[in-house]
Amino acid sequence: MTLATLVEYAQTSFGVPIPPADEPPDLTLPAPRLPPRPPIPDWLRTRRPEQEAPADRAHPWQIHDTVPPPLPPPNVDAVGADALAFYLPFHFYSDGWGIYIRESGVKYLACVLKDGALIPGDEHYLATAEEILYHHEMWHAAAEVACTRAELLARRSMYREYFRERDAAEHEEALANANAIRQCLRFPDAPMRSQLEHWMRRQGPGYSDYARWSKTPAFARGRNASARFMTRALPKPVPKVAGAPHDFLYRGAASYPSMPVARVLDVESSGASVVRPFPKEFGLQVLVYTRDHDPPHFHIFLPSEGKETRYLWPGLVPYEGDPRLTGSNEKAFRRYWNNHGQGIVAKLETVYQRGVG
Ligand SMILES: [Zn+2]
Repeated sequence: MTLATLVEYAQTSFGVPIPPADEPPDLTLPAPRLPPRPPIPDWLRTRRPEQEAPADRAHPWQIHDTVPPPLPPPNVDAVGADALAFYLPFHFYSDGWGIYIRESGVKYLACVLKDGALIPGDEHYLATAEEILYHHEMWHAAAEVACTRAELLARRSMYREYFRERDAAEHEEALANANAIRQCLRFPDAPMRSQLEHWMRRQGPGYSDYARWSKTPAFARGRNASARFMTRALPKPVPKVAGAPHDFLYRGAASYPSMPVARVLDVESSGASVVRPFPKEFGLQVLVYTRDHDPPHFHIFLPSEGKETRYLWPGLVPYEGDPRLTGSNEKAFRRYWNNHGQGIVAKLETVYQRGVG
């Protein structure tokens, strides 16, 4: 079953949009028990379309300068990954549902993993941090998918009720953190893992229980326990817990390639960046790194050949040592420049802080 089929079923049958964001939680209170789910954060609610960039692996991180540890975002001690990234459920958001990863959030977690500032060469901390956030939020998506499958068979609303239940929400956070650890640290990097666990152990209810579920048999039991929360309102007979009878609801649920994932390039970021891609057209794509080094240049990516070269701006000639595009690719690039040159120049001007000379 495709993700689109499930989403359509959920939205047409049980999806009632919730109004945008409640008041932010009062952070002055001592260790508040948060409402069952963290509210949609400001950085996500107030994002502008030009702040969004795709989050696929073809756009790697680059560090151009020392990245000092960012100030802790509000709430990060309590809700960990959900202060640095977020999942908007398709039951409640007909537009814009999916996973969002905040650029400054990746940097924050990367500095936690390294236990210090990042310097050029530390890109793997950023890549791992982003994977951790992705797999935490992907678990929230998987839970919604599993619950929608149950709804499909039961033909009644379950996600809305499940979503609002505190025990269920806390349990889902424990599994989301466990999932992140399981997915990201399969190739053990002991210091990074111990930093990550140290960070998670100090988080709020649910989040800090990840260790109970991070081993394989326990994780299956954890999924089953989640599904029992989801199906609580269904009639008897309730299946035994042994053998994790509800586990099938989760099969493949955390690996839909069509799950929308976006990076949000927020303003606080500096020192390292992801790339700002322009559209793919005429068999090529221009990429501008949001904080790249001098001399002013951009990257031209040829997806079909898997090759990349750099051209200088404003001269539009190859960067020293980089190959010139071959005849047909050069023609394609000229057509591409006609269509997108203006936008690329505008971006380069902001990156290099100068007008057209
Ligand atoms: Zn979460």
